[in-house]
Amino acid sequence: MDLFFLARRFVAGVDVESAIRVVRGLNEKGLHATLDLLGENVRDREQAEKAVEAYAALLEQIATAGIDSDISVKLTQLGLDIGEQFCEENMERLLSRAAECRNFVWIDMEGSAYTQRTLDLFFRLFRTHPHVGVAIQAYLYRSEEDARHLAEVGARVRVCKGAYKEPKTIAYRRMRDIRRNFLRLAEILFERGSDPAIATHDERLIEAIRHMTTERGITPDRFEFQMLYGIRPRLQERLVHQGYRVRVYVPFGTHWFPYFSRRLRERKENIWFVVKNLFEWSRT
Ligand SMILES: Cc1cc2nc3c(=O)[nH]c(=O)nc-3n(C[C@H](O)[C@H](O)[C@H](O)COP(=O)(O)OP(=O)(O)OC[C@H]3O[C@@H](n4cnc5c(N)ncnc54)[C@H](O)[C@@H]3O)c2cc1C
Repeated sequence: MDLFFLARRFVAGVDVESAIRVVRGLNEKGLHATLDLLGENVRDREQAEKAVEAYAALLEQIATAGIDSDISVKLTQLGLDIGEQFCEENMERLLSRAAECRNFVWIDMEGSAYTQRTLDLFFRLFRTHPHVGVAIQAYLYRSEEDARHLAEVGARVRVCKGAYKEPKTIAYRRMRDIRRNFLRLAEILFERGSDPAIATHDERLIEAIRHMTTERGITPDRFEFQMLYGIRPRLQERLVHQGYRVRVYVPFGTHWFPYFSRRLRERKENIWFVVKNLFEWSRT
């Protein structure tokens, strides 16, 4: 039973051709992209190596197609669960290829079991590869300290709220605390970091960032907004028309289920959308 039709709103397609087509369409609207070949928690060496090869090929396909897109990766797709050394070697290979293609690699931040290892690996890679950036999550108490360290070395950082289920011993639960911390992290990165990415669809936060940057004389070329494919597309285009750089995170591939279920969890309306579609599908 192929349930991909349910994920289609959030996932560009199962193959690279569909993803490139989607990115081309976004580029035509003035939007930049970051392509994510879906996959995570890979426990098999061969599978992790295949993911590296697929990403390396993707970098070349981006160049050949002449589309405007960088890439986003998850370290557990590239072998972090198998071994840190193994994952680092995989990232080294990928970053060398990205340098040859003059492209940029974002490292997504996964659940808190991986935060420290992700940042440790990031700092090691960043010493020799300036074209790598990393995400931090505003719901984690620790992120303020992490933002300071990342800003000190001049790393590019993506700030997001955080999409995993975390205990209250380590993470804010109330939206107003998460928003407050999000803005605190953005402030740190605007003060000392370089070219941060503000990854949210939350209009309150977007408005606050616009206000913060205007007040401090930070011009729109010194940061970017990032949003997910299929979420608030009109807001994405509106920001472009207002002169902001907007990058859309475009996931594709056959391993879409974990990503899709995180998107479902974020909004209960999405669950109804799924139930309704399943019901209609069962009647056809
Ligand atoms: C570019 C990008 C990269 C990301 N990378 C990571 C990462 O590396 N690690 C990580 O943990 N998280 C990541 N996230 C996810 C992020 O942490 C949040 O879970 C997600 O963005 C929802 O939070 P929000 O800030 O948009 O605010 P919300 O308050 O959740 O949403 C604001 C508005 O956006 C719309 N919206 C948001 N989510 C949905 C949805 N699922 N379906 C429909 N409408 C929706 C609604 O209109 C909602 O009112 C990323 C997000 C973006 C945009």
